Amino acid sequence: MAQRATWAGSRLLLRRLRDIMAGAGSAQERLDKIAQNIARDMVAEVCSIYVRRAGDLIELFATEGLHPEAVHKIRFRFGEGIVGVIAASARPISLADAQKHPDFAYRPETGEEIYKSMLGVPILRGGRVLGVLAIQNRTSREYADEEVETLETVGMVVAEMLATGEVVDNREQQPADGIALRPLRLGGIRISPGLAVGQAVLHQPAIAITDPIAEDEDVELERVETALSAMHTALDTLIERYDDDSASDHLDILKTFRMVAEDRGWIRRIREAIGTGLTAEAAVARVQNDTRARMALVRDPYIRERLADFEDLTNRLLQHLDGGQRPSAVELPDDAIIVARQLGPAELLDYDRSKLRGVVLEEGSVVSHVAIVARALDIPVVGRIQGAMTRIEPMDRLVVDGENSVCFVRPGEEFQRAFVESMALHEARQAAYARDRDLPSVSMDGTRVDLHINAGLLIDVPHLEATGASGIGLYRTEVPFMVRTAHPDVDAQQKLYANVLDQAGGRPVVFRTLDIGGDKIPSYVPESQEENPPMGWRAIRIGLDRPYMLRQQLRALVAAAGGRPLSIMFPMVAEVAEFDAARSILDLELKRLEETGKVLPTEIRVGTMLEVPSLVFQLPALLSRVDFLSVGSNDLQQFLFASDRGNPKLDGRYDALSPGMLGLLNTVVEACNAKHVPISLCGEMAGSTLDAMALIGLGFRQLSMNARSIGPVRAMVRSMNAPDVAALVGSHLNSPRHSLRTLLSAYAKDHGIQV
Ligand code: PEP
Ligand code: MG
Repeated sequence: MAQRATWAGSRLLLRRLRDIMAGAGSAQERLDKIAQNIARDMVAEVCSIYVRRAGDLIELFATEGLHPEAVHKIRFRFGEGIVGVIAASARPISLADAQKHPDFAYRPETGEEIYKSMLGVPILRGGRVLGVLAIQNRTSREYADEEVETLETVGMVVAEMLATGEVVDNREQQPADGIALRPLRLGGIRISPGLAVGQAVLHQPAIAITDPIAEDEDVELERVETALSAMHTALDTLIERYDDDSASDHLDILKTFRMVAEDRGWIRRIREAIGTGLTAEAAVARVQNDTRARMALVRDPYIRERLADFEDLTNRLLQHLDGGQRPSAVELPDDAIIVARQLGPAELLDYDRSKLRGVVLEEGSVVSHVAIVARALDIPVVGRIQGAMTRIEPMDRLVVDGENSVCFVRPGEEFQRAFVESMALHEARQAAYARDRDLPSVSMDGTRVDLHINAGLLIDVPHLEATGASGIGLYRTEVPFMVRTAHPDVDAQQKLYANVLDQAGGRPVVFRTLDIGGDKIPSYVPESQEENPPMGWRAIRIGLDRPYMLRQQLRALVAAAGGRPLSIMFPMVAEVAEFDAARSILDLELKRLEETGKVLPTEIRVGTMLEVPSLVFQLPALLSRVDFLSVGSNDLQQFLFASDRGNPKLDGRYDALSPGMLGLLNTVVEACNAKHVPISLCGEMAGSTLDAMALIGLGFRQLSMNARSIGPVRAMVRSMNAPDVAALVGSHLNSPRHSLRTLLSAYAKDHGIQV
């Protein structure tokens, strides 16, 4: 990272602003002076202060540079215009040419058409947006990181003035929904499934920084050192608490987190911020703001998660600076639902599990560390709930529906009662699935369908026993790599794979070699900028270009499976030649093992994922080489339709149950059956009951899915008649429809199939 220079002027500016705020004159006069001073010191032609008003509006309150008549006239809704977007996202935006930005909303009253560049930051206090501070310049210029940081720090100072209520009544600074206290339905993404009803507990309402300007730099540096060492000790204690936990993934995650807490760059930046004249708290908060801004620019979910760890650490450090009260020491209600912008894995584990019912996050992703821990502990989590921290009040009643990815805020009595009933029903159904775990997965006509689980961490493996699944149809080996800070060597990998095989207790496990790249980048791999990561340098492409890594993994796998059967498959194979190349590396490793006199696996089955459509056109050559095929319908669908699976704008645009996708799958199944090559499907389709019904109709006899789907899919299989569904699906493969979903769903309903 580039060496950061400290901005010499910032300390002076901060002191001057503090004097203005405490000085004489009306609030409006002081705000005007603040805007003038900021513009002058930051060498900007414009500085504008926007303040939050009732109804989630953001109003121009003071400006240096824009037309004065625009003051109190210009208002944006949250999310409207660049200023509204900054307010809604609580993130800075820096633009060399603001007018080209898609969110630019031109208001002629301001006269801003002559200004090209713009830097805007949210005015934040205690995690709430109180306003927006923006500077503009005539020339098209890039604002330096340090200017962004300075403006954010200035924003923290202005927040103190807004928080006094002298500019607008404090109640106006609450979100519109908060004032009306209306029931709300907030949609997001499913991070961990399950249902919960309870009382909102706002996660560590961020500590308000009452005095950002330091009197004595040395004192502040000393305070940070003390707080850091107290935080490190507290983390060590937390790790000790989990050290005897049999599910070692928790511990891995915590240890990774503990290493992040020592990050020298982070600590250095806090010290540098103190050097610009800030108190310890303000310095920590400023570095956090900067981290957030960087996080907003990163698309890769794994890198974002690493940055998210810093949010957890920042909150911890602020708590220690404030006297060290941790959330676990906070008295939780018996049915707590934690609401947070972002939560780190350690923060989740800090809460008393016996009282924790669910979690609602403003951010978060399915692949985050906290998601892995929450799923392991069976805590429902809904993420990406916009404005959760501002729209939900402490002690609000909340309903978290992790199944449908929604959170209901202050639901009516009746709704809550209905939800509690549906929860009871859901639990009863889950209990029934658990009871039926030993029933054969055989359809009414006697067709047997093998159900396997997908796994990626040791904590997933016990689900085999709990669900009665026949084996692990997809073990995503990249997942354990993602939760580590360094690449595991051959020994570490061998131990891990042997552990998986031991715990699977003789049930078959299909190990997929590393599928990194795309959106799966381990934290220790430098980020590479690719135009189109899912179609980029990933999976087997990396394996073949960097054979050392693939060889190490294959060596670990064959050694781990000594004396027992081993199944391996390669991800993202696009042509037969790639399969041959990967297979020859495996053969080399087997030969090597044999030469060293070590025990070989008793049987080796080698297959490939079918995720790239090109492979379908090489089926004859492929099928004469592989021992099995597994369709990765997630990737296959995205490549078939040229439709990014991670783009929310395309969600649901193309359907897996479209005649096109089903026709392609039909071709593959027929070819495999003709050559007696076992075929399975391990994408999301396998875990959806209706999709699984269609797949069985196409001839699939093996499916691999999330452990939670095994019960529902088994019940569906037991209530269907395979030849009838086959006839129905077969007769519609040439249909011009967008999808067969409605037709299949009506059929299932009419025939009592449990979908
Ligand atoms: C798939 O693409 O369907 C698949 C199972 O692989 P992943 O989701 O891990 O890319
Ligand atoms: Mg895939």
